[in-house]
Amino acid sequence: MLLVCRYLLEAFAAAEGLARIAHYPVRTYNGSVKRKRNSRPRIRKAAEARLPTRFGTFRIVGLENARRQWIVALIKGRLSRVRAPLVRIHSQCLTGDVFTSLRCDCRAQLELALEAIARAGAGLLLYEPQEGRGIGLINKLRAYELQDNGLDTVEANRRLGFPADRRNYAFAAQSLRFLGVTKIRLLSNNPDKIAGLERYGIKIEERIPCEPATHRASRTYLRVKKKKLGHLLAV
Ligand SMILES: [Zn+2]
Repeated sequence: MLLVCRYLLEAFAAAEGLARIAHYPVRTYNGSVKRKRNSRPRIRKAAEARLPTRFGTFRIVGLENARRQWIVALIKGRLSRVRAPLVRIHSQCLTGDVFTSLRCDCRAQLELALEAIARAGAGLLLYEPQEGRGIGLINKLRAYELQDNGLDTVEANRRLGFPADRRNYAFAAQSLRFLGVTKIRLLSNNPDKIAGLERYGIKIEERIPCEPATHRASRTYLRVKKKKLGHLLAV
C-alpha cells in the first residue's frame, strides 16, 4: 500500500502550480485515508507595500495559506467604502504576462483590468499562480509544443492527461473574504470562475466583460475557448 507523505504531496503541488491540494486524499501513517476538504485554510497577510504602476498606485498585499501557497492582491482605494468592488481574478501566465506572448490574451486582460480598477477608484486584482489553467508552467509549454503540431488548447491538455481547465477558485474566494470582500463586480469572461467563486460564498453582483482588443495571433485560441470552454467572448 502506498504511503503518501504529505510533505512530498505539497512539494508536488507547489511545483505543479496547483492552488490547492485539499481534494487530494491523504493517507495518514496509521493507514486511514482522510480528505482535507473540510479543513479551514488559515490565511495570513505576509506583507503589504505601496506599488506604483503605469496604471496608478496600488497597495500590494502578499497572502499565504497554511500550506504556504501564495496569492497576491493589488488593491486600489478603500474597499470597505464600496458595496461591491470591481475585482479581477487573474491566473498567472509567465509567457503572456511577462514575455508578452500573443498565443493568449492574458497580458492584455491584465492591463485592461488594472486600468479599469484604477479608473473605478476602488477594487482589487488577485494574482494567483494557476499557470496554464492549473497544469503548471512546464506542462503548459508541453501543451504549446502539441499545439504547434496541430492540436488546439483543449486537445493538448487532454493529450497530456489533464482536464481542459484544472483551476480551482477556493483560495481566491478565501482571500477575498480575508480582505473583507464578499460581494463583487467581476471582470471575467469565464462562467466557471463565476460558479467557482459563488461555490465558496462570494456573491457576483455583476459580470463585466474583460475583452481587450484581440491580436490575430491569439484569435484561434480565443475561438477555442469560446467554443469548447464556454467563455463569453465576441470573437
Ligand atoms: Zn496566457
